[in-house]
Amino acid sequence: MKILVMGPPGAGKGSQSAKIVENYKMPSISTGQMFREAYASNDPVGIEAMKFIEQGNLVSDEITNELVKHRLLKHDTEKSFILDGYPRTVTQAIALDKMLGEMGTKLDAVINILSSNDVLFERMEARRVCKECGASYHLVFKKPRKNGVCDECGGELYQRADDTLESVKRRLSIYETKTKPLLDYYEKQGILYNVNGMQPFNNVYADIELVLRDL
Ligand code: ADP
Ligand code: ADP
Ligand code: ZN
Repeated sequence: MKILVMGPPGAGKGSQSAKIVENYKMPSISTGQMFREAYASNDPVGIEAMKFIEQGNLVSDEITNELVKHRLLKHDTEKSFILDGYPRTVTQAIALDKMLGEMGTKLDAVINILSSNDVLFERMEARRVCKECGASYHLVFKKPRKNGVCDECGGELYQRADDTLESVKRRLSIYETKTKPLLDYYEKQGILYNVNGMQPFNNVYADIELVLRDL
C-alpha cells in the first residue's frame, strides 16, 4: 500500500498519518518532520531549509526531492509507505512519479483532507509539537495528559516557529497556488480520494479507513 496524505497546513495530515502507522505498521515519510529533525541536529540541509520554513515559504524542489529520493531508497519502503506533505508542487509530483517508476512501483491512493481556512487558523494556533518524536497535540482537542509533556515519549512540547499568524497566512496562500493544482494531477490518474477533515479525529480516520480497506 503506497499512499499519499495531502491537505492544506493544519488539515490533520500528521495526526491521521500517525494513526495509519499505528494500525498498518508502515513507515511514514513527512518532509516537514524530516526538515525539523535535520534542523534540530544542526544538519546543514536542515539549517538551510529552516530559513524558508520559518517564513512560511516552501523549501526548494531540488532539496526536497533529493531528501525524499534518499529516504525511499531505504528497504523499509519496499512494500508500503505513507508520504505526508510531499509532493507539494507539480514539479515534485512529476519527480516522485519518476522515482517510483525507477523503483518499479506507483502510488495506490492519494487521500486529500479538506478543511476551511477558519478551522486551519484555529488548529495551527493551538498546535503544540513534541521536540523529540514530532507527535502533534492541540491545546483543546488533543491535550497531553501532563501540560507541556508528550504522552508518547515524555519529550517537551513547543510551538512551531512557522505557526505564527503571518506564516500561516503565507502557507495557506502558497497552498492555493502551488499545491492545489496537484489535486487535478491525481484526479486525472484516478487515485484521488477526498475526506472531510472538519470532523472529530476518529471520524476523519474512519473515513480514511474506508478508502484503505477498499485498496
Ligand atoms: P498537518 O500535519 O496537516 O499540518 P496536524 O496533524 O499537525 O496537521 O494537525 C494540526 C493541529 O490540529 C494539531 O494541533 C492537531 O492536534 C489538530 N487536529 C488535527 N486533526 C484534528 C481534528 N480532526 N479535530 C481537531 N483538531 C485536530
Ligand atoms: P504543515 O502541513 O503544517 O505546513 P509540514 O510539517 O508538512 O507542515 O511542513 C512544514 C514546512 O516544511 C512547510 O511549510 C515547508 O516550508 C516545508 N516543507 C514540507 N514539505 C515540503 C515540500 N514537499 N516541499 C517544500 N517544502 C516543504
Ligand atoms: Zn514525543
